[in-house]
Amino acid sequence: MSDQANPFESLQEQIDDAAAHLDVDAGLIERLKNPERVLETNLTVERDDGTLETVRAYRSQFNGDRGPYKGGIRYHPDVNMDEVKALSGWMVYKCAVVDIPYGGGKGGIAIDPTDYSETELERLTRAFAMELRPLIGEDIDIPAPDVNTGQREMNWIKDTYEKLENTTAPGVITGKALDSGGSEGRVEATGRSTMLAAREMFDYLDRDIEGATVAVQGYGNAGSVAAYLLDDLGAKIVAMSDTSGGTYSPDGFDAREVKEFKSETGSVVGYPEATEELTNEELLALDVDLLVPAALENAVDADLARELRADVVAEAANGPLTPGADEVLEETDVYVLPDIFANAGGVTVSYFEWVQNRQRFYWTEQRVNEELERLICDAFDDLIETYEELDLPNLRTAAYVVAIQRVANSYEEAGNWP
Ligand code: GLU
Repeated sequence: MSDQANPFESLQEQIDDAAAHLDVDAGLIERLKNPERVLETNLTVERDDGTLETVRAYRSQFNGDRGPYKGGIRYHPDVNMDEVKALSGWMVYKCAVVDIPYGGGKGGIAIDPTDYSETELERLTRAFAMELRPLIGEDIDIPAPDVNTGQREMNWIKDTYEKLENTTAPGVITGKALDSGGSEGRVEATGRSTMLAAREMFDYLDRDIEGATVAVQGYGNAGSVAAYLLDDLGAKIVAMSDTSGGTYSPDGFDAREVKEFKSETGSVVGYPEATEELTNEELLALDVDLLVPAALENAVDADLARELRADVVAEAANGPLTPGADEVLEETDVYVLPDIFANAGGVTVSYFEWVQNRQRFYWTEQRVNEELERLICDAFDDLIETYEELDLPNLRTAAYVVAIQRVANSYEEAGNWP
C-alpha cells in the first residue's frame, strides 16, 4: 500500500520540522525526540490445546514532563519496537495539543488477535498486565485501548492490577466498560473529535459540511463513529473501506447501517446499496471534499499523495500520512488535520474517565460530550492562531509547535535534575 516509512523516523522528522520554528534548546529537542524508556518483554501463554507459545510485547514511556504517561495498547502482528516508540511519542504531543495533563506512552503485543480464543486472549492480557504492574499506576502510566483492544481487555488489566496490588484503582487504565468504571462517551470519543475537527475546519474555510462528500478508509471504532457523526451533520458518506476492500455509492450511505452490516458480516464489502467496489488505494484517491484515513500508519505515501483529490484530510488514525506525503501536499491546497489533533478525542475522554475515577463521581454523557467539544474547539483555535501567526507550511507543523512549546515549558519550569 505504501513506502514502509519507519514511524519512529516519521515522528522525529515531524518534530524537527516544528523545532525549526521554535526557540527551544537543541539538547532539549533531542530529549523530546526520544523515549525515556521502553520495556520489551516476552509473554508465554498456554494455548487451549495445552501447548505453550511465546510472544513479544512492548510498553514505551516516551515523556512524562506534563503528567503520567498515557496511551493505548494495541494487538497487531506488525507491532514492533519502532512503531511503539513512535506511537508513544505521538501521544505526548497529542495530550499537549489538547492541553490535558499527561505525558505519552504506548504498548502492544505482536499478535493477530483473531488467531486466539477469548480465554487465550485473557491469559495473554493478564500476563502482559503482570509485566506492566511495576510500571503503571493511576499517577504513573495509564494504558487504554488502541487497535484491536477495547473494554474487555481494559477490564482484565484493571482487575489483574487491582488484585496484585490489593486495592481498587480504576484510574490505572481507561477505556473500561461502564460497570467497571468506564465513562459515558468514551467509545465514540475518537470519532467524535474527528467529526469536530472537520466541522471546525469547514467552518474556517467558509464551506458547508452539510452535503460535503466524505470517504473513510478503515471502518473500525474511529472511522465508523466519525462517519456516522458526520452523517448526522448532513455530510454525504460516499465511500468506506476495511482490510477486505472498499465500497462506494455516489448517493451516500447510511453510515450507521453500514457499521451494523460490518459487525454482522465482518466487512463493509458486499453492502447491498453500493454501486461499486473499490480498493483502499482507489478510495484514498477519490475526488471528495473530506478524506478520513482511519486505519493504520503509512496509508498515504508520497506517490498516493500525488493522486489525492480530497480538499481536507482528517487523520482519525495515528500516522496515516508519511512525511513524504506531507511534503507533496504542502505544495497543494489540501488541508491536513493532523492525527495529534484530529483523533485526540479518545485520550481526552480517557482523561475525563480518569478524573471521574479519581473523584468516584460520574458524569452524564451530555457533560462528557460538551467538555470534549470545548477542548477540541479550543485546541483548533490555538492551532489556527499559531498557523497564521507564524505563517507555517501546514497544520501538522502548527500542532507540533503548540505541543512542543508546552512540553518544553514544563521541562524548563521544573529544571534539569539530577
Ligand atoms: N489509543 C488512543 C490514541 O491513540 C487513546 C489513548 C488513550 O485513551 O490513552 O489516542
